[in-house]
Amino acid sequence: MIPSAHASEFIDLETRHAANNYSPLDIVIRKGEGAWVEDVDGRRYLDALAGYSALNFGHGHPRLIAAAERQLRNLTLTSRAFRSDQLGPFVRDLAALTGKEFILPMNSGAEAVETSIKVARRWGHRVKGLPEDWGTIIVMGGNFHGRTTTIVSFSTDKVARDGYGPYTPGFLVIPYGDIDALRAAMTDETIAVLLEPIQGEGGVVIPPEGFLRDVRALCTERTALMIADEIQSGLARTGRTFACDHEDVVPDIYVMGKALGGGIIPLSAIAANSDIMSVITPGSHGSTFGGNPFATAIGREVVAMLATGEFQERATRLGAILTSELRSLVGHGVLEVRSRGLWAGVDIDPAMMSGKELCYRMADRGVLAKDTHGSTIRLAPPIVASEDDIALIASSIRESLTA
Ligand SMILES: *Cc1c(COP(=O)(O)O)cnc(C)c1O
Repeated sequence: MIPSAHASEFIDLETRHAANNYSPLDIVIRKGEGAWVEDVDGRRYLDALAGYSALNFGHGHPRLIAAAERQLRNLTLTSRAFRSDQLGPFVRDLAALTGKEFILPMNSGAEAVETSIKVARRWGHRVKGLPEDWGTIIVMGGNFHGRTTTIVSFSTDKVARDGYGPYTPGFLVIPYGDIDALRAAMTDETIAVLLEPIQGEGGVVIPPEGFLRDVRALCTERTALMIADEIQSGLARTGRTFACDHEDVVPDIYVMGKALGGGIIPLSAIAANSDIMSVITPGSHGSTFGGNPFATAIGREVVAMLATGEFQERATRLGAILTSELRSLVGHGVLEVRSRGLWAGVDIDPAMMSGKELCYRMADRGVLAKDTHGSTIRLAPPIVASEDDIALIASSIRESLTA
């Protein structure tokens, strides 16, 4: 795909002045509505990535825009030095949605993961009774939890990690989905197990049936916290409020982000009960924008939309269509399809073409998707997409692989 002269102007500006930390498709978007976006030349595309699940409710959902506009005119920031009339209702409603007593709001997903690590470590020292500066958090190979120095310290992705040492100690990596390895790795000094119930960045990798239940049981048995990073898997994407719900598992700490801010503003949070969250005391953690009235007004609307169950049901229904269409491509350039709800990882035959080449061919057919790890395409269309939109995703892949 050769960008138009108009699009090239924007691409050139980015190339000249934006740090080179991404490798985006050369499609310059100027507008979004529902599941669709429009580029600067007026071409329309179905957004089959949805901001890595931050746009679960689509672009410009009327309820979210209304909540944002209302709050924008009233009050956007107090800092936590003062109270606002938005934080209380938001934490009440999110606590109800998660079934936990306390919420700690932050901004980016990485900050929420960092928060869960801090809370777990304090809990390890002050409640579990390990010495200060001691204890291990077990994490999984292939994980993606964000980009801070501590988080990349336990990444197994060379590209994400290389050159950023010295690394934060106190983490132990085991293979994802390997319950025997976890059992062998857990000791009295284990503070927590941090995992994605489904690995998103890893390519929508689903652990073996029963894994989450077994992790839950092991954590209980060894008095360690189970921390579920539901930043990408949570909030209706998999057809349930949380991916852990598929195994009826309740972690000790939920980590949320992405869709929590409705695709409008960064809003993340952790949820836990008081026996864990009470280790947080005034001054021991915080963020200038964390829990600000603008973000929490939108977040409260997101929670209200999730509380109806409508989006979870829709993700299940549309996901079944997407999955059956994608399965029919196996053997025709597609090697494997993994899916849960409206979320799929499609491995294409690398001998045919690269993931990026496929994404450009899909874009020519009006569908935006992004490759991960070379030959995997991750599909996470907005849950407001129509059945025709879902069919278009599969047909664009079919045509792109055969053309
Ligand atoms: C995106 C993501 C993060 C990081 O969120 P940011 O808002 O980019 O910092 C952490 N964990 C998971 C599972 C994610 O998908």
